[in-house]
Amino acid sequence: MKSVSNKEAGLQRSLKNVYSQIDERAHDEENFCCWSCGSHQMLSHSHILGRDLRKDLMCEPGNIILQCDECHEAWEKRTWKKIVKFRNLRYILHYLEQNDDVVFWAVIEGVNEHIDQKKLGI
Ligand SMILES: [Zn+2]
Repeated sequence: MKSVSNKEAGLQRSLKNVYSQIDERAHDEENFCCWSCGSHQMLSHSHILGRDLRKDLMCEPGNIILQCDECHEAWEKRTWKKIVKFRNLRYILHYLEQNDDVVFWAVIEGVNEHIDQKKLGI
C-alpha cells in the first residue's frame, strides 16, 4: 500500500504547486477574485472537471478556476440559475468541449433546461 500513498502524496504536492502558480498569476494579473462572479470573498480552487471524475486532469492548470464559495458550490451542485450567470461560463464550456464530451453535453442540457423553464415561468 505504500506505493499508493506515495503516489497520492505526489499528486497532492503537484496540486499544491499548481494552486500557488494560479494564485501568483491571478495576483499578477489583478484577477484575484472569483472568476465566475467577481466577488472577493472566501476564494477557493475549483475543478471544472472534478477530481473524482477526472483524476487525470486533477493537476492541469486549465481545469482549475478561482471561485468564491458560493459559485464553487453552485458548480458542484449544478445550480443552473447561478451557473448561467457565470462570467467564465464560456471558458468552462470551451474547456469541457475539449476535454469531456459527456460533461459538456450534460452542462449544455442543464443550461438549456433552465432557460426553457424560465421561458415557461416554472
Ligand atoms: Zn463567485
